[in-house]
Amino acid sequence: MKTFDPECNNRKRCRWCGFLKPLEEFYTSRITEDGFRSRCKVCMKLAQREKERERKKKERERKKKERERKKKHTIKGKMQAEIDCLKKQNEILRECVESLGWHANAKDALTKLEAMEKEGWS
Ligand SMILES: [Zn+2]
Repeated sequence: MKTFDPECNNRKRCRWCGFLKPLEEFYTSRITEDGFRSRCKVCMKLAQREKERERKKKERERKKKERERKKKHTIKGKMQAEIDCLKKQNEILRECVESLGWHANAKDALTKLEAMEKEGWS
């Protein structure tokens, strides 16, 4: 694709923004045929900024994951995980009991157990 403007040789069309810009607006390049980059300086900067933003975002996500991973290996983290698991189990159990109508019976059983405990398991 010819990016030079045929009527104005000192200009080039940026492939990103599509504007016809003077050659000073382009960085030189040893790779391209015409010796200039296909993107204008503004677009290069924008792309670079976007890339940097993306990099930082990835870095933040990586660090967050790392923190969470480390947290799982600490005693506090392990205990918390266990507590969460027990809470979940408790929740499921309660739901089962309630849905099956065992709630009253379970309560009765608990009262009896507590009474027995008070009496010293006689
Ligand atoms: Zn541009």
